[in-house]
Amino acid sequence: MIERPSIAIVGAGPAGLTAANVLDRSGWRFEVFEVEQSIGARDQGGSLDLHPQEGQLALEKAGLLDAFFAVARHEDQEQRVYDYRTAHLIREIIPEPGKGDRPEIDRLLLRTLLLELLPEGSVRWNAPINKVQAQPDGRYMLHSATGVMGPFDLVIGADGAYSKVRAALTDVRPNDTGVAFAELWLSDVDRLHPDHSALVGHGMMISLHDGAGIIAQRNGNETIRVYAAFRTTPGEGGWPTVSLSNVTKDTLRARFAGWAPSLVSLITDADAIVAVRPVVSLPPGLRWPQRDGLTLVGDAAHVMPPLGVGVNLAMLDAAELAEALIGSVDWRQAVREYEKVMLDRAERISVHCNAAFDEMYSEAGAQAVIDNLDGR
Ligand SMILES: Cc1cc2nc3c(=O)[nH]c(=O)nc-3n(C[C@H](O)[C@H](O)[C@H](O)COP(=O)(O)OP(=O)(O)OC[C@H]3O[C@@H](n4cnc5c(N)ncnc54)[C@H](O)[C@@H]3O)c2cc1C
Repeated sequence: MIERPSIAIVGAGPAGLTAANVLDRSGWRFEVFEVEQSIGARDQGGSLDLHPQEGQLALEKAGLLDAFFAVARHEDQEQRVYDYRTAHLIREIIPEPGKGDRPEIDRLLLRTLLLELLPEGSVRWNAPINKVQAQPDGRYMLHSATGVMGPFDLVIGADGAYSKVRAALTDVRPNDTGVAFAELWLSDVDRLHPDHSALVGHGMMISLHDGAGIIAQRNGNETIRVYAAFRTTPGEGGWPTVSLSNVTKDTLRARFAGWAPSLVSLITDADAIVAVRPVVSLPPGLRWPQRDGLTLVGDAAHVMPPLGVGVNLAMLDAAELAEALIGSVDWRQAVREYEKVMLDRAERISVHCNAAFDEMYSEAGAQAVIDNLDGR
């Protein structure tokens, strides 16, 4: 009889929940451990576009593609680039009605979709895993503040950029890119902020200059998410020190002095700054000594600067890993083969993302983003 490993998935983000759905569809059992207290405990971040060959393919493998298409915002795929000083439109991409193939979905809605069909109780909330420990028999225990769980034959680290599971495989930590994103919301935009609503249109807009940027994207429920991107000074050991406690609307207003008032007011009119995220990246091409029973998916394996691919790759990794396990005769061998394909793909994409991101947040600014849009 073919051996099925006992499986722990650490992290109920897009990657962890995609793996869970694909496994569940074939009757495989698993436990998911998630640090957050509940599905919507934390602001989940901006809207995501899922690509046909990655995020959508993963949802198809999970049996959720039709459900995604039913709730996705097909109408919000426009892209615009504005001059930072005049706010004149430099470039726009408006797909013909029915032609865009990257519909948008709010993160909370995606998480809801991914949780809907999972068996009751398969996600353990409020379970922060702080250490993975190998046992003499080759299995693993998970340590959290509330106790020790396990043993598990296979631990899948889907715990994002600052993964604790990754720490059991390699000492390498993500590098600070020297750019941070402050995130702000504008709500009820069509009624309260019609000018901002028109500027952003049905999709996203971006304006870049000299290492800074204002990016805004339409989300569901007549809201706009604004990212104010700015250069930071690296702290001790190169680790980012910027945080919500040292960024205010006033510091952002000063950072964007000289920019067109209609762009800056996306920041000053916003309801509040909800998060400040330093942009980090693992070195492209990172590998670790393979260990049976431990593997990574998504940002835990290959966090890279945000250029619209992170969630897509995360979900594809997870779906491919789960499929490889289901179809395997030797699950350990299946994980080895998955890692090779996943890491080779991540290296190719991460090299491109890191180079494009550096260029966008340099003097090249707007031209780099136009090249990136045109080559997408
Ligand atoms: C500002 C910004 C904008 C972005 N925009 C886009 C975009 O437009 N399109 C796109 O494709 N990608 C985008 N990304 C990237 C995208 O968010 C990530 O690539 C994606 O979320 C990765 O999914 P994941 O499941 O691997 O990790 P995550 O989404 O980080 O999920 C990890 C999960 O693990 C949980 N967790 C963490 N640590 C522990 C622990 N110790 N124990 C238990 N649980 C834990 C977390 O709470 C979380 O639920 C953006 C990123 C940023 C920073």
